[in-house]
Amino acid sequence: MMIFLSIYVTVVGLLFGSFFNVVGLRVPVGESVVHPPSRCGNCQTRLGAKDMVPVFSYLFSRGKCRHCGVKFSAVYPLFEAATGILFLWMFLRFGLTGAAAIGIVLSSLCVIVTVADLKYMLIPNKVLLFFAPILIVLRFVFMEQAWWHYGLGGLFGGGLILLIVLLTKGGMGMGDVKLFALCGLVLGIGPAVLAFILACAFGTIVGMILIGLKVVQRKQPIPFGPWLALGSCIAYLYGTQIISGYLSLIG
Ligand SMILES: [Zn+2]
Repeated sequence: MMIFLSIYVTVVGLLFGSFFNVVGLRVPVGESVVHPPSRCGNCQTRLGAKDMVPVFSYLFSRGKCRHCGVKFSAVYPLFEAATGILFLWMFLRFGLTGAAAIGIVLSSLCVIVTVADLKYMLIPNKVLLFFAPILIVLRFVFMEQAWWHYGLGGLFGGGLILLIVLLTKGGMGMGDVKLFALCGLVLGIGPAVLAFILACAFGTIVGMILIGLKVVQRKQPIPFGPWLALGSCIAYLYGTQIISGYLSLIG
């Protein structure tokens, strides 16, 4: 039963991941997520069911359009796979619980935000407004701690990024403020602090590697939303363990 459910959750994740690519790429520029249907960007051939099997279509066609042979971006299968893995991870970590449901919705938000922020350097309000009520309701239905942990997490997340925006005048935007306020509310105060530390660590390490490889210029802004998203997912999955492990080390 467990294996069957695991496969099911992963397949659902892969399919949703495929849709999240479309949402992340179209919503920021005001396009519909259902129309027009996906086409090859080069030859304009409409993609059929055979071309839209998440991850596998890309692997079987070796990343090329079946009609004109132009190379497709590896970003699509990458985010499809990431969504499948995140959904499965949440299920394996939390089982059939409210916590898993929150984790899966949080992962969905994080994948879409990452796609949009990497492509356009912005986090669309429409996406935040869609996910905020779902996450807030789920959080307050399935509370594991007193409500103020989550309230404080939201205040910390939004407040801290707002402070950074005001102090640095660049780097981060209001999209990051709203995103991390929402993530903080879902995580609660302890894991929210951890998520921020993780985001800074990932952002710094990857930024340094990209500058070292001369992929980006030193002064070029790197979107921070994806790191907040990744930090939040990890803090959601293992925050409690990491924090209690850390506290037992120092105390
Ligand atoms: Zn083509």
